[in-house]
Amino acid sequence: DIKSSEQAIALEDKHGAHNYHPLPAVLKKGKGVYVWDVEGKKYYDFLSAYSAVNQGHCHPRIIKAMTKQSETITLTSRAFHNNVLGVFEKYATEYFNFDKLLPMNTGAEAVETAIKICRKWAYEKKGIAETEAQIVVFENNFHGRTTTIISFSNDEGARKNFGPYTPGFIKVAYDDSASLEKVLKENKNIAGVLIEPIQGEAGVYTPADSFIPKVKEMCNEHNVLFMADEIQTGIARTGSLLAVCGKCNCQGHCERQETYSRPDLLILGKALSGGAYPVSAVLADDEIMNVIQPGQHGSTFGGNPVAAAVAMEALEVVRDEKLAQNARSLGDLFRSELNKYIENSNIVNLVRGRGLLNAIVINDSEDSSTAWNICVALKENGLLAKPTHGNIIRFAPPLVINEEQILDCVKIITDTLKQF
Ligand code: PLP
Repeated sequence: DIKSSEQAIALEDKHGAHNYHPLPAVLKKGKGVYVWDVEGKKYYDFLSAYSAVNQGHCHPRIIKAMTKQSETITLTSRAFHNNVLGVFEKYATEYFNFDKLLPMNTGAEAVETAIKICRKWAYEKKGIAETEAQIVVFENNFHGRTTTIISFSNDEGARKNFGPYTPGFIKVAYDDSASLEKVLKENKNIAGVLIEPIQGEAGVYTPADSFIPKVKEMCNEHNVLFMADEIQTGIARTGSLLAVCGKCNCQGHCERQETYSRPDLLILGKALSGGAYPVSAVLADDEIMNVIQPGQHGSTFGGNPVAAAVAMEALEVVRDEKLAQNARSLGDLFRSELNKYIENSNIVNLVRGRGLLNAIVINDSEDSSTAWNICVALKENGLLAKPTHGNIIRFAPPLVINEEQILDCVKIITDTLKQF
């Protein structure tokens, strides 16, 4: 049994691959917005497992659904049918208003799935010559860690010495519709545009309100699939069910809203299960999804009964507990309270984000250790957050947080910043 944080960290260090650099917090329990370490210290979780735990840690309804299904049947593979998958597919397609869903497990797998569907659609429906399809992606994107996905990353750490890389991707500047327009006009072989509505890993880089609708409009104009990677931004995180819903609050039936940039391929993961189980999915309408036929794509665990039961309950919780509305109003409060402090701060340049996906940019260089040191101090003061890209700290608490807790956290954050 683990007796101390040092012991747990030493074990990981010796026996685990060194593919992460975690903050030295060893957690053993979570409930709602709180987590506890092995010494019993309690923290606010301000990362939410990279926005997977939107519904809060160990949400009783989600755990109950998972436990009940786990005791009945866990895995059939898709060689046979199971009695939960279809119910989940009906539920989720109605929830997000698409014809069909393809279930996978992790975010990167769902992105890979979208890329494959997009390419196949390009050859079979759009008429691009085989192997010629190009997909437009954006500078500083993060879509996962597979060989194809890192092929179009511009993060050297993620890419270097993992080549040869998968071809077929064109990178353009984010939040710059003119660059995208140029590429779409000059290249007849573009099959799709793969985009994060807000770039989470890049430091919660939030584009102008007009950018995503413009991308969608250009995709329509050029008969190119608009693929929204909402793995981090989706499922209420940014104050609407999806970040592509813009500023509307329509809970999934936003085609009536003029602000909704409806994806041709919607990519979900993380909070699709409330962090209880790995569940991801791609949603699309029939004319696109039907390019995939038996034997052409799949996963042993994708669409398993536990995943299906957990995801349904996780989505139901988001609706019942009005998490999008909560993220919107408490996000506004969080930024306005932090801004009051930042006005007179030398250490923080700005706070940005939407809903409860936010970040502060520290007034220091990317390779400085200031942001890391601030996160270590935040930990001492009872709040867990992690730097992204050196000088940026993301703040993304579970969406079940309440006003009193948010104000308490603002105080912890500003008191900590005063130490620097
Ligand atoms: N896409 C986005 C936008 C993400 O933020 C992430 C994870 O952080 C992924 C894809 C990859 O998801 P996973 O780590 O589950 O493969």
